[in-house]
Amino acid sequence: MYDPILNDTFDMDTHDTEWWDNGGEPMWVTVSKQGGRSATYFWAGGEAETNGGYRPDIWIPYNESHSYTARIDTVVKWFTEENIDFVALYFDEPDGAGHDYGHGSDEIDDMVKDLDILVGYLIDSFKSAGLYDIVDIIVTADHGMTDIFAAQKIYLEDYVLRSGVRDIGGQVRGRLSRIPVRNTWICIRFGKNLLEPI
Ligand SMILES: [Zn+2]
Repeated sequence: MYDPILNDTFDMDTHDTEWWDNGGEPMWVTVSKQGGRSATYFWAGGEAETNGGYRPDIWIPYNESHSYTARIDTVVKWFTEENIDFVALYFDEPDGAGHDYGHGSDEIDDMVKDLDILVGYLIDSFKSAGLYDIVDIIVTADHGMTDIFAAQKIYLEDYVLRSGVRDIGGQVRGRLSRIPVRNTWICIRFGKNLLEPI
């Protein structure tokens, strides 16, 4: 992702404050402001300092090799041994299977079943540690997915002036996701020639 104001690019490894401190208040900052202690386990933004110097009290640099059950075991320890009041815990599935194999695939169905078992492991772990009745658990996701069909494929080069964009190919796994527009160009209408100079 390119930001014309910062004149810089962003990817999953960007943790600079200028990219994350954009007016919102992460929940771990709210917890800190209220005198609580917070932790993030791979949560997006948890590695950045924001809101005038706030970070989670505990945060871990992203490393996909940490097993899912080990992440849960660590979170239980944070609650029971580190006096933590709020934890944001991230799993990169079933997002990965969805991006790689698509909605409705056997691979994502199997992954959803695995994650369902994992949530069961989390609940059992919380019950064993005496946390289940005193910790609220919220399961959420940052986006859904849907099928697309080859017959509906659109070649953006048929509509976008190639010289007007920085990189049509900028994408995450499987899908075109962004079209960074050059500084001096704006998108002024849909249809032929999406982009024209101002
Ligand atoms: Zn995704």
